[in-house]
Amino acid sequence: MVSKDMLHAGRVRSAIRDLFEFGRKRAAEVGEANVYDFSLGNPSVPPPAEMTREMVRLLSDCDPFALHSYTSAPGSNETRDAIAENLNRRFGTSFTRRNLYITCGAAAALASIFRALTIDAGTEFIAFAPYFPEYGGFAAAAGGRLVVVKPDLEHFQIDFSALEQTISAHTQGVIINSPNNPSGVIYSEETLRTLCDLLRKKSAAFGHPIYLISDEPYRELNYTGVSLPLVTELYDAAIVSYSYSKSLSIPGDRIGYALVGNAMPDFSDVFDAIAGAARMMGYVCAPSLLQKVVAFCADQNLLPDLSSYRRNRDALYNGLTQFGYTCMPPDGAFYLFVQAPGGDGDRFSEAAKAEDILVVSGRSFGCPGYIRIAYCVSYETIIGALPGLGRLYHSFQP
Ligand code: PLP
Repeated sequence: MVSKDMLHAGRVRSAIRDLFEFGRKRAAEVGEANVYDFSLGNPSVPPPAEMTREMVRLLSDCDPFALHSYTSAPGSNETRDAIAENLNRRFGTSFTRRNLYITCGAAAALASIFRALTIDAGTEFIAFAPYFPEYGGFAAAAGGRLVVVKPDLEHFQIDFSALEQTISAHTQGVIINSPNNPSGVIYSEETLRTLCDLLRKKSAAFGHPIYLISDEPYRELNYTGVSLPLVTELYDAAIVSYSYSKSLSIPGDRIGYALVGNAMPDFSDVFDAIAGAARMMGYVCAPSLLQKVVAFCADQNLLPDLSSYRRNRDALYNGLTQFGYTCMPPDGAFYLFVQAPGGDGDRFSEAAKAEDILVVSGRSFGCPGYIRIAYCVSYETIIGALPGLGRLYHSFQP
């Protein structure tokens, strides 16, 4: 016998992975250049050269025992100090290593945060559609559940009256993701402040803090030029999950962190519960080599080169809207979330496969009438796919 829930999680087929596998099969049949794979959020910008050089230096110059040994469970002091100092320089904050728990990417940070905050089976976390599908799994695996606020299909911003109606005595946390996967939307400082005011009001009404979990793997993939405050400076009960997967283009290396703000009520209970959750799920001591690498990148303040994402975004957005597609111009991340011609994302995604164009249905993000196009691909892939996307658009017109 095995756990039914875990068996289901292990067997349920991910639409994104299915598409990716289909793409691999087609590439073997018709050639790599003839398959336009927009399914995965794998960065297409190479990692910074300075980072790669540092990795090589570490491997060749360092004592291998020191380099590869366990660090303390939340990460080495040097790494946490370097990240705290980098955040302080950029955001005017006053973090120390005590605020940071280094994890294997944002996924491990989120799983630990959900687990730490789940009190019983009645615990609820609120997300806004469109949302990263794994949130549902993390909340359920922690023993609680995800409650989804319907999307504001006009702007993909927060629908505050829907949120106000959804928050209940069971609400333990609200999760936001800005810049957003899949919509590319960024919440303004004003939006964040309105959200924090509402959460303060509701926390007071229900007599317990409602935690704000800010999932920020795309923090630096921001095309607006307006940098945003950290939520820990706007709201006491805020926790950030961060990942270097996208900003340093190292998703397979699995490194990120959970950040608990200094004003967090019962700070040490919350931090220690995250540490406990990470420990119970086997996430202690994120990869030691990568800890050293991100400490170096924090010291150097290495940021991603956005020029090719911006060029891809503009070519795709302009090309699609000229055909007649409807979508928001994305301010961040590397996805375009497009109304599916015909109104059904599943049907459109299936039809696109006939053109060897792989786009993900919005269903798993809570918006079944949409498709997600990950434009972290080569510019040639975008230009090559546009004629097929044009044919598809017309094939769905009455
Ligand atoms: N959160 C969002 C919104 C994401 O898009 C992703 C990955 O694509 C993650 C979390 C997980 O990131 P990581 O690779 O750091 O586990």
